[in-house]
Amino acid sequence: MQIGIIIVAAGRGTRAGGELPKQWQDVAGQSVARWTLKAFAGRGPVIMVIHPDDQAEATAAARDLDVRLVHGGADRSASVRAGLEALASDKPDKVLIHDVARPCVTPAVIDAVLSALETHSGAAPALPVTDALWTGDAGLVSGTRDRAGLHRAQTPQGFDFAKILAAHRAHPGGAADDVAVARAAGMDVAIVPGDEANLKITAPEDFSRATRQLRGQMDIRLGNGFDVHAFEDGSHVILCGVEVPHTHKLKGHSDADVGMHAITDAIYGALAEGDIGRHFPPSDPQWKGAASAIFLRHAVDLARSRGFAIGNIDLTLICERPKIGPHAAEMTLKMSEIMDLDSTRISIKATTSEQLGFTGREEGIAALATATLVAS
Ligand code: MG
Repeated sequence: MQIGIIIVAAGRGTRAGGELPKQWQDVAGQSVARWTLKAFAGRGPVIMVIHPDDQAEATAAARDLDVRLVHGGADRSASVRAGLEALASDKPDKVLIHDVARPCVTPAVIDAVLSALETHSGAAPALPVTDALWTGDAGLVSGTRDRAGLHRAQTPQGFDFAKILAAHRAHPGGAADDVAVARAAGMDVAIVPGDEANLKITAPEDFSRATRQLRGQMDIRLGNGFDVHAFEDGSHVILCGVEVPHTHKLKGHSDADVGMHAITDAIYGALAEGDIGRHFPPSDPQWKGAASAIFLRHAVDLARSRGFAIGNIDLTLICERPKIGPHAAEMTLKMSEIMDLDSTRISIKATTSEQLGFTGREEGIAALATATLVAS
């Protein structure tokens, strides 16, 4: 069964507050539209129907996803019709039509609609109305309504593609939704279970509800790195890219920047990508004396190529001497430049080991780092 997907995103709705239409506003770290597009990724070709003024926002939301942008019409049904016409060349068997403002749609709801489409020409998720229904007048209850048989409609609404395209072409306009268009053409539409999580962002408070739902889907990785280098005769050590005068230097195959090595390993660790030695083998003479920034940059680029942003870095250097405090700000700046990361996300601190152990005897420096990566 070939599926086509239409995301209806041409609305100018600012009832939810903010300057931009709600679909381009951020929720849980990315735009509403991007969450919605990701929820359908891999299901089939996606058409996002947009307002021509929103090209830049839509392009950003669809980056690196398989999405075509199509300009919508004067109202919702004209926009859906534009999406259907754009999908016609793909000749899908079925189509799912979804409101961009429902970014929390679950795989289970999508699967239920697709499964019902095997036996019906239309299917849509809905929840039975369970609250009592009243009419009101001037702040007073003026009557009650029977809720039996009433449902709250959600999307995606799914249809046989050829039938819904013909139904839209034949419809005079003004339908409440695609189910109304389908029914006007005599199609049967099955009701499948919706989900309270599949809320439609309408009012400002819906953003916080959606944030709570989507945070549970956030992909956050944590990695740690630990490194030690011994002292040998010299005049300075290199720590986090900064030359710090000292009575010794650190011994190592590269520039022996123990702090940067620990951070690099923390990032590789968060990616389950081993450690520096795997990517830059010490047996390879080309890395002799290499600036450790090469290693760190490689780890950062690898993280970003996998779709992760660096959340934060925390590094502890363990040594009696040299004193780190006077150099910490410069180290943070250097790391910020190499990683292309805001300095407020980088912590560099130091401790002694109270003259105990190898760091206490000033035989070398140890470094411990933590990195978080957040899928973006
Ligand atoms: Mg090392």
